[in-house]
Order: sequence, then C-alpha cells, then structure tokens
Amino acid sequence: MAVQSVALVAHDNKKKDLVDWAYKNSDQFAPLRLYATGTTGRLLSERLGRDDIHCLLSGPLGGDQQIGAKIAEGEIDLLVFFWDPLEPQPHDPDIKALLRIAALWNIPVACNRASAEFILSSRYMTDTEHTPGKPDFSDYTGRKVS
Ligand code: PGA
Repeated sequence: MAVQSVALVAHDNKKKDLVDWAYKNSDQFAPLRLYATGTTGRLLSERLGRDDIHCLLSGPLGGDQQIGAKIAEGEIDLLVFFWDPLEPQPHDPDIKALLRIAALWNIPVACNRASAEFILSSRYMTDTEHTPGKPDFSDYTGRKVS
C-alpha cells in the first residue's frame, strides 16, 4: 500500500517505548510524513532531530480526535498508538473514538512494540501493487431517521 504518512501517539507510561522504537527505525521513518499528538510529537522531534513532525494538540485536549479526523479525510495510512492498558485516561472516550475510526477506514493499527515491528517489516509498507484499499461508503445513506 506504500505507507506515506504515519500518526504516532503514546500514553505517558508508553512514551519512552514509542520514542525508542521510532529512533531505532528512524531510517525507515525518514521519508514518511509524521503526525503526532502534542507531547508525543515534541519528544519524537527532540529524539529524531526532526522539525517537520505535524504536532497536533495534546491527547487530553483533543489531539486524538484531530488524528481521527485526519484518518477520515484520508491523510493517514498507519496509526501507531501505544496506549496504556494499566491506567485509565481522562480522555478514554476520545481513544475509543480514534480506534473506531481507524477500524472503520481500514487503517492498520499498532498498539504495542511487537505489532509495530510486524507492521514496519511488512511489504505493504512500500508495495504499491498490493493495497488493502479504502472502504467504499458511497452507498451509505446515513442513519434511518423518520
Ligand atoms: P500526548 O497525548 O502525546 O499529548 O501526551 C497522547 C494521549 O494521551 O492521547
């Protein structure tokens, strides 16, 4: 599918893991357009030495929703979201919404380092011939309201 843009998000206890993983793979990330929630993006910018990361709002302030909107608009090909399974978050509804939108639009999602490694090593990262494709909602007429 030839991934061109990646959104990166990590909860506080997972930020170090995500930043370390991104740094380890910085060569592969170099040609990719990167989006991130605010704090995650700042840490990635510092570690990767990149000033071109599209840093959105911090997650609790709406950053996850901004990423969800970009997925719906077709701007993001891959979501790497290291969420914390051990801590409730003040913005849990936003996280659920982001994961729903990613599933709806058939976007691959890595939730931890193992799944991120699998996805990054996939031929779909660079293969333009094979694409999972975007779903076609052209016949979706909305909810039935009478
Ligand atoms: P942050 O947001 O990168 O601004 O910390 C991530 C999140 O908690 O969703």
